[in-house]
Amino acid sequence: MAAEAEQGFRPLDEASLVTYIKATPALASRLGGGGSVEIKEVGDGNLNFVYIVKSSSGAIVVKQALPYVRCVGDSWPMTRERAYFEASTLREHGRLSPEHTPEVYHFDRAMSLMGMRYIEPPHIILRKGLIAGVEYPLLADHMSNYMAKTLFFTSLLYNNTTDHKKGVAEYCANVEMCRLTEQVVFSDPYRVSKFNRWTSPYLDKDAEAVREDDELKLEIAELKSMFIERAQALIHGDLHTGSIMVTPNSTQVIDPEFGFYGPMGFDIGAFLGNLILAYYAQNGHADQTNDRKAYKKWILKTIEEMPAREQSASVLPSIVQRRS
Ligand code: ADP
Ligand code: MG
Repeated sequence: MAAEAEQGFRPLDEASLVTYIKATPALASRLGGGGSVEIKEVGDGNLNFVYIVKSSSGAIVVKQALPYVRCVGDSWPMTRERAYFEASTLREHGRLSPEHTPEVYHFDRAMSLMGMRYIEPPHIILRKGLIAGVEYPLLADHMSNYMAKTLFFTSLLYNNTTDHKKGVAEYCANVEMCRLTEQVVFSDPYRVSKFNRWTSPYLDKDAEAVREDDELKLEIAELKSMFIERAQALIHGDLHTGSIMVTPNSTQVIDPEFGFYGPMGFDIGAFLGNLILAYYAQNGHADQTNDRKAYKKWILKTIEEMPAREQSASVLPSIVQRRS
C-alpha cells in the first residue's frame, strides 16, 4: 500500500465518526447539517465495521475496513485497499444497475471509509428472509436484471479491448481478496484446513468424503483456473444471499469488496448455489405450522426463472442500437 494512504488512516469509533461526518459535507448534508445523530454499529458481516447513522432529517451508512479480518482478529491481516475496490465496484455497478445498488455518497481512500445510502427497513438480508420462509416474487427478475446489466456492460461483449484491459489492469490490484477466495472457496473445503467447520460428529463422514473425492477435486481445480485466468467481466465476487438486502418489492446488492474482472459464472453460480443451499436447509426449518413444502417450490421456481427471464434479451436491442 502507498505510504501516503497508510499515513492518513485512523480506525473510527462512534465518537470520532461523529466528528468525521461533521467535517465531511458529502455526509453531513445527507443528515441535514449540524444537529445530533444516533449511531449504531451493525457489522454482522465478517470483515468490516458498518455504522448506521441517523439524524432527525436523514440516515446514511458508513463502512470502514480495518487492516485485518474482523471475525478472526488481527492474527489475519487483510489489506484495507479492499474498501477502494468495494467503492469502485459499487459505483460502476450503480451506474449500470442503479435500481439494485446503493448510491455511494463519499469515499476516503486513506481512511478506507465509504458513506452510502441507508437501505432502510423493512429491507433485510436475503439469507434471513430465506430462513424465515418469506417469498420474494420479484427476486428472480431483479437479480437477473442486475447480473445481465453489470456483467454484460463490463465485458468485451460491450466494451472495446482498450477499455476492457484498462479495467482488468486496475482491478488486478485487488489480488489479496482474489487470493482469499482462491483459498476459502477453491482450496480449503477440499483439504484439512484451520478454518474449516462442520457439524461434528454428524457430518464427519461427509467432510471426509469431500476430501477424498479426487474427481471432484479435479473439477474444482478446473473452476479455480477459470476464476484466476478468465478476466471476462467486472464481477461482484461475493454474491451470496448475505450480500443482498430485500423487501418483496426491492432488491439491493451490497458488499462487492471482492470485485475484480473474473468469470461471469462466478457471480451467477454463487447466487444460484446459495438458493440451492437454502432449498436443502428448509427441512431443518420446517415445524408443525409450516412444512415449508410450498416455500421449497418457490425457491426452485426462482432458480428456474433466472435464465428464463433473461433480462439481457430485453436490454440487448437498446445496446445494439447504441453501438451501431
Ligand atoms: P462485511 O463486508 O463485513 O461483510 P457487509 O457489507 O456485508 O459487511 O455489511 C454488514 C451488515 O451491515 C449487512 O449484513 C447489513 O445488515 C448491514 N448493511 C451494510 N450495508 C448497508 C446499507 N447500505 N444499508 C443498510 N444496512 C447495511
Ligand atoms: Mg458481507
